[in-house]
Amino acid sequence: MSDCIFCKIDRGGIPAEKVHEDGDLFVIRDINPQAPTHLLIIPKRHIPTLLDLEDADLPVIGRVYDVANRLAREHGFEKSGYRVVVNCGAGAGQSVFHIHYHLLAGRAMKWPPG
Ligand code: AMP
Repeated sequence: MSDCIFCKIDRGGIPAEKVHEDGDLFVIRDINPQAPTHLLIIPKRHIPTLLDLEDADLPVIGRVYDVANRLAREHGFEKSGYRVVVNCGAGAGQSVFHIHYHLLAGRAMKWPPG
């Protein structure tokens, strides 16, 4: 999508350091981090929200969690704990309508999230 910020980042139209990239997804640091480590795992296909997932997307969503676990081990927070969260819809806090998974670590997490 031409006006989507994450599609623009993927195409190189907006600068961002890609922490990881493969054919299906890429990972960047959140510009407004909510934890010492706050990464965004972003499927490349422009899927607006969790509700828009199609059957063909499901293997990629599985890979999101594999990449999250790899990053946890690489960054050394696999034992201290981490949170993977997706906001679906404005009411849940979604502000960028291209599906992405927040990977948060490095501080104690509260439950329930606010
Ligand atoms: P959400 O509110 O769940 O849609 O999450 C969107 C996230 O994208 C927010 O945490 C923003 O801080 C982050 N964000 C927006 N623009 C950028 C950008 N250019 N680079 C990195 N992160 C961004």
